[in-house]
Amino acid sequence: MSLSVPVFLKEREEDNSKFVEIQQSQTTCIAAEDPLQNLCLASQEVLKKAQQNGRSKCLKCGGSRMFYCYTCYVPVENVPVEQIPHVKLPLKIDIIKHPNETDGKSTAVHAKLLAPEFVNIYTYPCIPEYEEKDHEVALVFPGPKSVSVKDISFHLQKKSQNSVRGKNDDLDNPSIKRKKTEERDLNDSKCKDTTLKKIVFIDSTWNQTNKIFTDERLQGLLQVELKTRKTCFWRHQKGKPDTFLSTIEAIYYFLVDYHTDILKEKYKGQYDNLLFFYSFMHQLIKNAKCPGDKETRKLTH
Ligand SMILES: [Zn+2]
Repeated sequence: MSLSVPVFLKEREEDNSKFVEIQQSQTTCIAAEDPLQNLCLASQEVLKKAQQNGRSKCLKCGGSRMFYCYTCYVPVENVPVEQIPHVKLPLKIDIIKHPNETDGKSTAVHAKLLAPEFVNIYTYPCIPEYEEKDHEVALVFPGPKSVSVKDISFHLQKKSQNSVRGKNDDLDNPSIKRKKTEERDLNDSKCKDTTLKKIVFIDSTWNQTNKIFTDERLQGLLQVELKTRKTCFWRHQKGKPDTFLSTIEAIYYFLVDYHTDILKEKYKGQYDNLLFFYSFMHQLIKNAKCPGDKETRKLTH
């Protein structure tokens, strides 16, 4: 199996200057057509070895798995946690998973494995209550009401102002109305920080997604749409266009947009390692399509 990801970066990205330098020096010989070829990734040697040795044990539940356990969200014995990259994210991520989604197929687990302290996975219908937080949380979901990443701050602010107005309308005693309104305006404008702090993704097939999306607990959230990107997902969902992203791709592309459009910083590969497992598995599947490649048949959860 030949793996043509160009950058093998052993150190974690704390040393940012080195990180950038390595990336820039190696970006010249890159094929443009496959976006996964351009990534700035940690060494995937550990995955290569694990794949050659076959499944190993999950240290939590004892299950036999390849690379990681999709029920415990930890890497297996053959893939020591110190040898997989640790990605720092600029905000928290909630992933809401449909209970019928086949665990082994979901790429949401990749995010939890690679950025454990930033990512939480919930199984529908057990989801958090966002009502009081809707000025700092948004949901990635394409639709007529969705806004683009660069407009998130504007819309969160608008939402927060509308909710203040809504509350004031509820006060029907005219004598206290004026005073309360003033207090409330002051409090809300002072205390309500409308910076995006958490982004929510739905992880399920298209048909199931709609059921989760229409849950009233999510209806109050600002909906965000990603710029169209072509998916590299190897399990194309039947009848879906190739712009339908897998969950880890959607998370990755959201963060890239967030970085450039909201943080206003140049993107230098900071979140590329979120595709550490994905790009490796994608490569295996791609090779499996070529006749005569035996290695890849081992790759089934
Ligand atoms: Zn397990």
